[in-house]
Amino acid sequence: MSKIIDGKKLKEEIIDSLKKEVKHFMIKPCLAVIQIGDDPASNTYIKAKAKACDEIGIYFKHIKFTEETKEIEVINKIIELNNDEYVHGILLQLPLPDGFNADKLINYIARNKDVDGLTDINLGKLYNNKPCLISCTPQGIMKLLEHENIDLEGKNVTIVGRSNLVGKPLIGLMLNKNATVTVCHSKTENLSKHTKNADVLVVAVGKKEFIKENMVKEDAVVIDVGINKEDNKLYGDVDFNKVKTKVKKITPVPGGVGPMTVAMLMTNVINAYQKQQKKSV
Ligand code: NAP
Repeated sequence: MSKIIDGKKLKEEIIDSLKKEVKHFMIKPCLAVIQIGDDPASNTYIKAKAKACDEIGIYFKHIKFTEETKEIEVINKIIELNNDEYVHGILLQLPLPDGFNADKLINYIARNKDVDGLTDINLGKLYNNKPCLISCTPQGIMKLLEHENIDLEGKNVTIVGRSNLVGKPLIGLMLNKNATVTVCHSKTENLSKHTKNADVLVVAVGKKEFIKENMVKEDAVVIDVGINKEDNKLYGDVDFNKVKTKVKKITPVPGGVGPMTVAMLMTNVINAYQKQQKKSV
């Protein structure tokens, strides 16, 4: 088996299987993406989501507000989408421009349409190991590890980064798999001590090649979440070329966690759709 974990291939398999499933649906599933402003990175991510929807047969609704839009208009749109029976998933594209409160807006999204799994109610359910919509990047990481047959029970898992989008939900998911979890952040002292202790190291910091070869344990599994753009090239948070020689498995950037985030979003849309269809029968 290869040392490099291929997220692109697994994404394609997932998209293919969802496409077959959707063919049998009477009504087309619909994902609504709300964008505020015109952030170039967000435009790229939204394009990738639209492309995946198109491939699978999911209707993609892109609602774009300018930075001058009043918060109440965005709230009213979310409420309208919550009440629209033909919209099955709602996502607020992050980051938001200055002056908008992402946490407040996200929590207006109905929990059964919250396909990013970021509402307080879905995060709470995740921590209580109850069925819920799970945040896409952490869910993608778990899927990759499962696909690679990596048993997490009793293993030392170190997560570097504690954002609401990646690190925090991942803590809950890892605990649910009985891993022993250490979480590091910008105030952590002696970071290397924690990263070197990890059987599975997940890095979500946003700093190019931040994790060096001497910071990882031999034979560890390294999951690199970072996406850092420099001179039109993408780099992860891990010094990939050096670290890969030492570890058992590693995700590349691009082609590792990134594609899985899109695959998990599509999976969430279909799961949300199916639950909503069952309820309406
Ligand atoms: P974020 O919200 O900026 O969080 C960064 C985290 O890194 C924070 O918890 C911060 O600690 C921690 N940190 C910063 N400097 C550190 C240091 N010197 N030592 C240890 N920890 C440090 O970022 P994010 O949204 O989680 O994203 C992280 C990276 O992943 C970015 O490159 C982003 O583009 C990428 N990303 C990729 C995907 C994907 O699909 N592949 C999805 C989401 C994000 P504090 O909490 O103390 O500030």
